[in-house]
Amino acid sequence: MAEPAREHGSEQLIDPFARRVKDLRISITDRCNFRCTYCMPEEGMQWMNRSELLTYEEQARIARVCVERWEFQAIRVTGGEPTVRAHLPRLFEMLAPLAVDLAMTTNGVRLPELAHRLAEAGLGRVNISIDSLNRETFRELTRRDELDRVLAGIDAALDAGLTPVKLNVVVIRGVNDHEVVELAAFGRAKGVGVRFIEFMPLDAQGEWTREGVVPAHEILDAVDAVFPLEPAPRSSGPASSHPEPARLARYADGIGDVGVIPSVTEPFCDDCDRVRITAEGKFRTCLFALDETDLRAVLRDGGTDDELAAAITAAVGTKWAGHHIGKVDFIRPARSMSQIGG
Ligand code: SAM
Ligand code: SF4
Repeated sequence: MAEPAREHGSEQLIDPFARRVKDLRISITDRCNFRCTYCMPEEGMQWMNRSELLTYEEQARIARVCVERWEFQAIRVTGGEPTVRAHLPRLFEMLAPLAVDLAMTTNGVRLPELAHRLAEAGLGRVNISIDSLNRETFRELTRRDELDRVLAGIDAALDAGLTPVKLNVVVIRGVNDHEVVELAAFGRAKGVGVRFIEFMPLDAQGEWTREGVVPAHEILDAVDAVFPLEPAPRSSGPASSHPEPARLARYADGIGDVGVIPSVTEPFCDDCDRVRITAEGKFRTCLFALDETDLRAVLRDGGTDDELAAAITAAVGTKWAGHHIGKVDFIRPARSMSQIGG
């Protein structure tokens, strides 16, 4: 196994393809109060036992090691649905002293009651998933009739100052692709950026098909036809040294930006700076990775920070150049998006 190189004289974590790793995504639960069709089935998911989940203390410890040793710059809390885990503000209180870009991805339905408490606890910003503004389509996609509460969640996030608020929209052909322009207009009216995401083969049911993917360029063309776009600098948001993978465009009239995450048609693996921990403490170097490193075992066997760091370093030494969606050698990971942490 190749040892990842350290940049001379610095404490940066560099993978075998010379990419600096500096973005940690922590999944804190595999459970969810929605059942989005592109993510999980209505019934039959095998949930992890509570005792299997990393505690907030364990998650914060891994995060601290990454920030202290290698100057990680961003931490994103995700799931499953992170807001279904009890006492969530406590986790952000533990992460806030690390003073990095602290974000969360959520379906937004619990934000009306939680947004202010999370902001006070140290959460900086949120991505809220909303795939349709049509109540019936929203209900079909999420299998929950909760559009109004998600809309209230967006307002609550803005009100709590969780800026920038961004909206995540998974676009699926024949399902919600006709709403792309409407969703972009909604984002403009609210003053929030929309990030359209290509549908990836990470649904638990294995129903993904290439035909369901609406390519990023098609999405941007549809928006551009109504709201003319111009190229935007690659990074927007609070941490300019931490570019997001979205292909970004700016509205020519100056009213905000829009992005597409072209994971399928134009993978951004060359610039990937991410690693992930699943809710039960498996360290993954790619969404589509086939191997995992058990950090929970290191933690619960009394491992020191040095041993934790060594396990992470060794895992990063296996980070591959990129995934192979659409190629003959692509192998679907055994886990779905909700079990990995999107
Ligand atoms: N429950 C939260 C939410 O929905 O925002 C956080 C976890 S979710 C797994 C993270 C993101 O992954 C969401 O924006 C969701 O829409 C996206 N996602 C889930 N399954 C996907 C798939 N098969 N392809 C593309 N994006 C997907
Ligand atoms: Fe839950 Fe998020 Fe998956 Fe939807 S995408 S089922 S909200 S984890």
